[in-house]
Amino acid sequence: MKPAVFTYVAPHSREEALEAARRFGSDGKILAGGQSLVPLMAMRLARPATIIDLNRIPDLAYIKAARGGLAIGAMTRQRTAETHRLVLERLPLLADALRWVGHAQIRSRGTIGGSLAHADPSAELPAVAAVLGGRFVVVSTRGERIIDTAQFFTGYLTTAIQPHEMLVEVQLPAPPAGAGWAFQEIARRHGDFAIAGVAVVLRLDADRRCADARLAFTGVGPGPVRATNAEAYLKGKRLSAAVVAEACRMAQAALDPDGDIHASAAYRTHVAGVLAARALRQAAERAKGQA
Ligand code: FAD
Repeated sequence: MKPAVFTYVAPHSREEALEAARRFGSDGKILAGGQSLVPLMAMRLARPATIIDLNRIPDLAYIKAARGGLAIGAMTRQRTAETHRLVLERLPLLADALRWVGHAQIRSRGTIGGSLAHADPSAELPAVAAVLGGRFVVVSTRGERIIDTAQFFTGYLTTAIQPHEMLVEVQLPAPPAGAGWAFQEIARRHGDFAIAGVAVVLRLDADRRCADARLAFTGVGPGPVRATNAEAYLKGKRLSAAVVAEACRMAQAALDPDGDIHASAAYRTHVAGVLAARALRQAAERAKGQA
């Protein structure tokens, strides 16, 4: 199929884009890498009256060191971030998760901001933002808002971004010093969206007990799901096989995924627990290695 009729504007500056977002409001749709929006338009599942193309605005794509972590421009290509020196040094978790996003060809056009703004419930980046405590810089002609991850993802394919607003930057703090990390996922084929996935950040104390654990799942809810009950249980404990198994059982108990043609809800819950155990063990090994 082909998209319904639409008008097209291609601003050359952030200011021009914001003016277009103000002018067209909910009749406008921002185009970033087009890897989600264009298929939706072709299937007529999205029928924006006007497309606001950000691809001619050079200063929306960047990766900068910021407050120990990274500030990433919304139009930064996923492939650029995956292979960027600063990401590999400061946030290898992000690079690892990006490798699960589609294929290199998709990632060479898809953007960091687009993936997060699209908010697919099986996308990897929302889980990474959730486990790191990311913040989202959203601007409009009326000013700027900074939104924490917990408030940003508001439901299935929806975020706190308002129609007249534009996501311009994602701020991802680095994990605590000495922390281990892991990203585990299962998909029907490499490049498919996740059936389930989990991002873990784990810090051990000098006694190799859990000082801080964060687990964020993808594919098992309308958006990223933090396993706060399992995180609280792990605190202060050594990660024995029994403790890891109990933490994963608690995480599974808190999940309520949908089933679909790719996997049943029961299967998603089961495999989420298996992946969480793998990720906790892998993050613990990395934390020990850091120590
Ligand atoms: P677009 O498609 O251009 O836009 C997506 C949505 O975000 C639109 O609603 C748009 O209006 C909005 N938007 C974009 N930028 C902004 C902004 N700056 N401010 C406000 N709103 C904005 N993704 C995964 O996470 N995991 C996968 O495994 C995966 N597999 C894929 C496989 C295939 C074959 C394809 C085609 C895509 C796949 N994707 C996957 C999706 C891909 O990662 C997209 O790049 C991503 O979902 C959207 O990024 P984009 O830059 O292409 O955004």
